[in-house]
Amino acid sequence: MNKTIAERFKRIRGNIAEACARAHRDPRGVRLIAVTKTVDVSTIRNVLELGHADLGESRVQEMVQRNAMIKESISRKLELPDTAQDHRLTQPCWHMIGHLQRNKVKLLLPIVEYIHSVDSLRLAEEINTTAARLGFNHKVKIFLQVKTSQEKQQTGVAVGAVIALAEQIMTLPNLQIVGLMTIAPLTDDMNICRFCFGRLREIFEEMHGEKTCGPHFRHLSMGMSHDYIAAVEEGATMLRIGTALFE
Ligand SMILES: *Cc1c(COP(=O)(O)O)cnc(C)c1O
Repeated sequence: MNKTIAERFKRIRGNIAEACARAHRDPRGVRLIAVTKTVDVSTIRNVLELGHADLGESRVQEMVQRNAMIKESISRKLELPDTAQDHRLTQPCWHMIGHLQRNKVKLLLPIVEYIHSVDSLRLAEEINTTAARLGFNHKVKIFLQVKTSQEKQQTGVAVGAVIALAEQIMTLPNLQIVGLMTIAPLTDDMNICRFCFGRLREIFEEMHGEKTCGPHFRHLSMGMSHDYIAAVEEGATMLRIGTALFE
């Protein structure tokens, strides 16, 4: 099991490296998030044993439960003598990638590192006030999720509203906008996915040029199992991959 996951990581990293070469990019600029929403905790432990820290979940409750179980495994291992620790677990770095309800923010903030799915001022304000209430002395790192296709089920901020939303969010002291995120349609037609990714990159470049979001604004979270190669070619810096790693 562990071996298979290791092999899949290797294969995906190889594909990423090839796509980077075609696009004249440095593969170190592409971060792979293992989306664990469909797997059990023992598989997550395997991923962490491989030294891979970035994990993505789309539901707060599950991230919280899984994090607690993993933290317990880590502390149990720390109590063992050094000789028994060949299967050390890396500390997880959690990415919230699914739709986020305001009433879940309080549970999420203590454990999450990146929130990829901010799509309204009301949600941003909730994160901002909750961070203050929790006494955070760091800013919460967020992405604005953008709707780059006409698909009915696609969520996110409309392309034409992104900059105005970013400007409003920039007035909130406890948030840091680190980038933009999008989900391309689930299709085999890579031209459609590529169009969405290119659109996201154009908005990103415009905001970058205008310095809308400050120096931490440098990420494009785009690309899943079916379209990550196109995403890398279009400039993705974070890929969210589940099925291709765990199917
Ligand atoms: C599930 C999910 C992914 C991973 O999808 P795969 O096709 O399994 O790689 C990526 N992003 C989001 C927002 C998801 O919900």
